[in-house]
Amino acid sequence: MRFEHCLRLFFIGFFASPLCLAATSVSYTEQHKQAAEEIAAKLWQWSELGYLEQRSSGLMQDVLRDGGFRVKSGSASIDTAFVAEYGAGEPVIALLAEMDALPGASQQALPEEATRNTEAGHACGHNLFGGGVIGAALAVKDWMQANQVAGTLRVFGTPAEEGGSGKVYLVREGLFDDVDVALHWHPADSNQSLAATSLANKSAKFKFEGIASHASAAPERGRSALDGVEAMNFMVNLMREHVPSTTRIHYVISNGGDVPNIVPRYAEVYYYLRAPSAQELEPIWDRLEDAARAGALGTGTQVNWEVIHGNHSLLPNSTLARLMHEHLSAFGGVDYSADETKFAETLQANFNGKGKPVSSAATIAPWRDDIASLGGSTDVGDVSWVVPTHGISTATWVPGTPAHSWAAVAASGMSIGHKGMHLAAEVLAATTQDLLTDSQLRAAIKAEFDERRGSDFEYRALLDDRQPPLDYRVKP
Ligand SMILES: [Zn+2]
Ligand SMILES: [Zn+2]
Repeated sequence: MRFEHCLRLFFIGFFASPLCLAATSVSYTEQHKQAAEEIAAKLWQWSELGYLEQRSSGLMQDVLRDGGFRVKSGSASIDTAFVAEYGAGEPVIALLAEMDALPGASQQALPEEATRNTEAGHACGHNLFGGGVIGAALAVKDWMQANQVAGTLRVFGTPAEEGGSGKVYLVREGLFDDVDVALHWHPADSNQSLAATSLANKSAKFKFEGIASHASAAPERGRSALDGVEAMNFMVNLMREHVPSTTRIHYVISNGGDVPNIVPRYAEVYYYLRAPSAQELEPIWDRLEDAARAGALGTGTQVNWEVIHGNHSLLPNSTLARLMHEHLSAFGGVDYSADETKFAETLQANFNGKGKPVSSAATIAPWRDDIASLGGSTDVGDVSWVVPTHGISTATWVPGTPAHSWAAVAASGMSIGHKGMHLAAEVLAATTQDLLTDSQLRAAIKAEFDERRGSDFEYRALLDDRQPPLDYRVKP
């Protein structure tokens, strides 16, 4: 099958590595599959939240260490971040392994909505993300060892993707500085390799302090912190008319006081601001801060703020995306068994996921020459501005399933999720083989990276010099 895959790539004629025709291709064996599945299943069970992924990170490190990798944990002062390496010297090819779950996403691996005994769940499929990458890394390592391949395979254990910007701290620490190419993937309801950009994103909690007083007997003695929040929000909502239409601003009042008869002494509003690039985001962010200051001034309160996270947009790389598309197309999509088809149809009936046939999981989205624009944001963005980076999506979820839904948790915990994960691992392993052995290919990828990034680019983290918010998921 591997040989067939290579031949197909050869006939497609796109960057077919000469080594590909040799009998020494990376082989993603039953043993690698088993390791990936075990990690995916345990991470799904544990459903650990951002920066609290001790058991998940520990398991991934143990498997890599047992598999012959040198593992260092505690990267960038984050307990659950790690760097695992096999081999030596250049080139350095990196694989990113995520692991965090989402709060409030408790769900069993069933085709109907049913909570289980956890508060969190893998609604973004990061259990599969982590498991698939470790499986691929073990396969590549075995092939490197058997063929004495030069170069370094580096696995980054990247915690707290969901709002914690885990990767940004690893980038800021310089851990990607010597990496030639970084690869990743993400669970989805379809199979595709899309040259895409995402939105830059920065968030902060604006904390207003007022003076508490009896709201009826002595209101003149009080200053409402909630008034500060409301004044800020009013100004920001007016501002929406005077920003580019590609801007996204969203907030929640995370603390609005306790009871109506006490003038709120403390109130807090939590903002996200998104724009197509960091460059476009930063001047709008300054205006958000102005609105906070003005809100405090006008209401006689005080304000300060804590930046929570910040992600750059994704810098696309079509050369790399196309290479992964060819591998993905050669491996083909995800085929369901009769039981899985039944599961998928029942899930679709119980979830508003109709309109996309179950059989579409077996297909690969056609290649697109344009750069797609994703509505969301990711901390992979920061990685993509310091090293050429690309990731594919595979159908780990029943077609029609959006991320962050109970339906995503359900499929991420059973065989449909595992099948999509194995497809991703195969593609990652085959691509890593190409990258380790083909210097011309690496040069083409780097040339596109340099051109898109521009010669005067200097990386600066959007979250400034803040330290990782290691307790951002700890309930007060
Ligand atoms: Zn997510
Ligand atoms: Zn995700």
